[in-house]
Amino acid sequence: MSALLAGKTALVLGVANRWSIAWAIAQAFQREGAHLILTYQGERQRLTVEELAGELDGAECFSCDVTQEAELTALRSRLEATGKPLDVLVHSIAFANREDLSRPFVETSRDGFALAHDVSAYSLVSVSRTVAPLMSSGGSIMTLTYLGAQRVVTNYNVMGVAKAALEASVRYLAADLGAQGIRVNGISAGPIKTASARGIKDFSSVLDAVASRAPLKRNCEPGEVADTAVFLASDLGRGVTGNVLYVDAGFQIMGL
Ligand code: NAP
Repeated sequence: MSALLAGKTALVLGVANRWSIAWAIAQAFQREGAHLILTYQGERQRLTVEELAGELDGAECFSCDVTQEAELTALRSRLEATGKPLDVLVHSIAFANREDLSRPFVETSRDGFALAHDVSAYSLVSVSRTVAPLMSSGGSIMTLTYLGAQRVVTNYNVMGVAKAALEASVRYLAADLGAQGIRVNGISAGPIKTASARGIKDFSSVLDAVASRAPLKRNCEPGEVADTAVFLASDLGRGVTGNVLYVDAGFQIMGL
């Protein structure tokens, strides 16, 4: 079978290290022949991301803190300067204050609520607006979400509410951008051990609960999320927009 993403250029936001879901996606995209552009948030992450990009054929790296409008404008200019249209955007970014992921949700501060929504939900809107004009032949935008958007998951708290806003944003963006041939979808991944996940109190008990109750009797793997991202990025996913696809070993279907 020929490579599914040959000739496509993909921008991937959210590679922090080898354990990042975005890194698994970048590797799967490379396997399928895509040209990769990665971003990092500030100087602190630059070396790590540049080192990882060095493992991908000809990948480029740009700086982008999604909370800074000036950085989004600079990202747009750097993408334009490549002279190539953009085909795929992967938004794999989230942040909430650690204390908001351990105390009761009702204690969430105004600032903590705003910060979690700005980084984890609004950024999909602002980055989509930034890159949509570069998707001159249509494109695929995808984001990473979690079951906590739909159900109460202990300690997920304000991040669950931000993910609900993110999933609604997927639908509104899909409706706005569909006429330009741009599809917008979410992948709802099961719990995976990453740096962000470590910020959630008692995360290991979530992993244990999924492994015991999910239909597949295990947790999902980053590579499974990445292969779903390949599907959405490729022409195989051409009829799919405004959706949230669960890659969670089936956990979300289970009741008692
Ligand atoms: P991760 O490796 O820690 O990735 C999170 C990324 O968000 C990091 O690269 C982080 O950069 C970036 N980020 C945070 N604030 C940013 C900002 N202002 N500007 C630019 N980038 C920023 O963790 P992950 O688990 O792979 O998370 C990726 C996505 O998957 C998130 O949306 C997460 O909610 C979602 N997800 C994760 C799981 C799971 O169990 N792990 C399950 C379902 C969904 P820095 O490191 O530089 O801060």
